[in-house]
Amino acid sequence: MDNYQEYLTEQLKIVPIQLEYIFASFITFGVAGQIYTIGREYRKMKNEKVVKYDDIGQVLYRKNGRARNIAIRISRNGEVKVTVPRLCTFQTAENFVFKKHQWIKEKIISLERKKEQKLAWEDGTLISMHQARIYIEKGESDNIDVNQSGSDFQVFLPADFKKESEEDQLSLQHVIAGIGLKEAKVQLPGILKAIAEKNRLSYAKVGVRRMKSRWGSCSPENKVSLNSALIFLSYDLIEYVLLHELVHTIHKNHGKDFWALVLKLMPDAMERRKMLNGCDMIV
Ligand SMILES: [Zn+2]
Repeated sequence: MDNYQEYLTEQLKIVPIQLEYIFASFITFGVAGQIYTIGREYRKMKNEKVVKYDDIGQVLYRKNGRARNIAIRISRNGEVKVTVPRLCTFQTAENFVFKKHQWIKEKIISLERKKEQKLAWEDGTLISMHQARIYIEKGESDNIDVNQSGSDFQVFLPADFKKESEEDQLSLQHVIAGIGLKEAKVQLPGILKAIAEKNRLSYAKVGVRRMKSRWGSCSPENKVSLNSALIFLSYDLIEYVLLHELVHTIHKNHGKDFWALVLKLMPDAMERRKMLNGCDMIV
């Protein structure tokens, strides 16, 4: 699958360093000096540096020999990491963060908002899976109970369930993820097989499991791993991810040849990819 950055575009964004920023680091040297008054540096090793800012919290700067751009990454839990190319100084990277700090702040706020939205499951919620549904209903016992009939799952909330309680939502999420995993293990391998056959592609093995940051991956030995959360997406997007991984059995990177083959087999792949980037991993 796309690497982490490409994949969570909502949360993560690579901002390529441009010449203007390199120049800016000299021109705005005085401004950059403020970063030390705004941010408090409290750990510095040869390849790593951590600076704490009042508005965006802790930022980890890490040197990376292979990186060509300064990249700011914000993980789902709001951690900010900055990749610093080997030949770039920490100071230049800090200037860059300083210039982008409004953007970082907005991203962190939007992540927090998303987290709040996640606390929204309650009696009456319907969660769609590929060819199956989960209905959340009021229950009377102390536990979350699940009842399956055909492709429908009923999830009964405990009698004392509180929608606003993070703990209650997390337990519910755990149950939903379990149902998703079970369903994904039943459905996804067959879909992968059909897509592979249709496109004359082959893979060694398939595994379905819960993954945190990727929808799928393909190993050098052509073992395809799929995120069980795919089951909560529309079929168009499932198909895109599975085809994407299958094309990796031929092209291991995301080079020109890779995308050319993806587009040959799925002309609207880019539209689907864009939609996928706007999707949240439901559990
Ligand atoms: Zn990929």
